[in-house]
Amino acid sequence: MTPMSDIFDPPDRRWVLPGEYPLWEGALVLVNRDLAATLPDREPLRLLALPSWHEERDEDVYVTMPNGEWQGNCLEPDPDDSSADAVAAVAEAAQETVSELLWQAWPVCGEHGMGMHLREEDGHTVWHCGGGRSTGEPAHVRAAVGALDSLVRPHRPNRKSRRQER
Ligand SMILES: [Zn+2]
Repeated sequence: MTPMSDIFDPPDRRWVLPGEYPLWEGALVLVNRDLAATLPDREPLRLLALPSWHEERDEDVYVTMPNGEWQGNCLEPDPDDSSADAVAAVAEAAQETVSELLWQAWPVCGEHGMGMHLREEDGHTVWHCGGGRSTGEPAHVRAAVGALDSLVRPHRPNRKSRRQER
């Protein structure tokens, strides 16, 4: 395996260290939970800092695949950002990176097989699904960002499966 230091050229890009961007790091924990729930073979996404071409700051931070590749814009720092804003921003960046680099919709609704979109609902950032093809399958909120894992675990000890209820 190639040592991490050999991967990057130019060498002035670096992984964000814990505590440097707490809001984005916290948001990425949630997004990575969704990644693990939907694409369990994938390693967690990371935050990568590069020298900025913006005058007002030294570096730009991107949500990247574990190998440092990304797609789309950097995260925009905002002193007024709440953690909810950070979740929305990081989830959007993660969605672009994952779906573009893996050439697949992500995340996909487990019920309808459709790629989902981010939405704000009651102050939470949620994954929204456009629903199925029949009229009995309307558009719906699948889960808050970070909560997809609560839906895909197949066998919970305390929960009856639908099959048993029939
Ligand atoms: Zn759905």
